[in-house]
Amino acid sequence: VTTPARIGTASDANTHVIAIDIGGTKMAVAVVRGDGHIVVQQRIATDAARGPEQALTRLTELVRAVRAEANVAIDGCGIGSAGPLDPRAGVILSPTNLPDWDRVPLVEIVRRALMAPVGTVVRAGGTQRLGVDVVLDNDANAACLGEHRFGAGRGVNDLLYMTVSTGIGGGAIVDGRLLSGANGNAVEIGHISVAHDGWPCACGSRGCVEAFASGLSVARRARANPSPRLRALADAADAAGHGDAQITAEHVVAAVREGDPQTVALWDETMRVLGAGLASAINAFNPKRVVIGGGFAHGAGELMIGPVRTLALARAMQPLAAVCEVVPAALGADIGVLGAAAIALAHLERE
Ligand SMILES: [Zn+2]
Repeated sequence: VTTPARIGTASDANTHVIAIDIGGTKMAVAVVRGDGHIVVQQRIATDAARGPEQALTRLTELVRAVRAEANVAIDGCGIGSAGPLDPRAGVILSPTNLPDWDRVPLVEIVRRALMAPVGTVVRAGGTQRLGVDVVLDNDANAACLGEHRFGAGRGVNDLLYMTVSTGIGGGAIVDGRLLSGANGNAVEIGHISVAHDGWPCACGSRGCVEAFASGLSVARRARANPSPRLRALADAADAAGHGDAQITAEHVVAAVREGDPQTVALWDETMRVLGAGLASAINAFNPKRVVIGGGFAHGAGELMIGPVRTLALARAMQPLAAVCEVVPAALGADIGVLGAAAIALAHLERE
């Protein structure tokens, strides 16, 4: 049983969807209105190391609790999750930050949790809804849809979203629709290679942008040869005070803000790689706007957006650069659930 046709109306304030955001450290569940208002949101730790079963049990309990708290008729459900995953089968494959989540049939699990009647949820017509469509996509595609519908990508039919976080990923809206690809894995822009015989990447290729410029990669490169100032910043932030604190991407950003020359050199090279990768993506997708999001990019702010914008637009082919702007993401910490909501709303509009 699916929702009756509501084409063009999913953005209104009478539509409500359940939005689920699954990451390696936390899971969030919300009820979101069609206009982007978050009615209820709750977060819990994923505790990924304890395996999928306990996490999924707590997740389905949370879904039912949030649904009951919102106490509105639910029109659909969207899930954004770390990939790789199979969006058409609704199955999570084996994300690196979700150990042992091998072929987890997440859509079926959530759909069953939503089938259970919740006494107070009654449709305007008086019929109780027992189930809704549940759709799954990866977190980068979710964020792309979220920024397109509610954030910095509004009103743009050709949008490229790039997330620079622990890893690097992306999503693309082409002619107004999310680009999916042959098996739902399009726009892995973190694995654009900018050095054909360069540094090895976990994906098996070489010279990938992610293996040089992601938050993890920058921290790893900085740790290999830290400046005294970077070392001191990491140690000062270490509550344990053992003097052997792990250098993170945040410490690198702090050292660059201070103008520490060695860390600034590492940063400049990182921006050149990001800029070259984004220029290639602009050449491939011809976007009107590029939205850059993700935790690492958000923390660095204009320190990253500025040089990446300049380098990418200088390097992309002129006719494509001429129509393209590069802007920061707008949705901040709510991007996970707003992205998941956007997945559900796009699905409702397709029906
Ligand atoms: Zn790669």
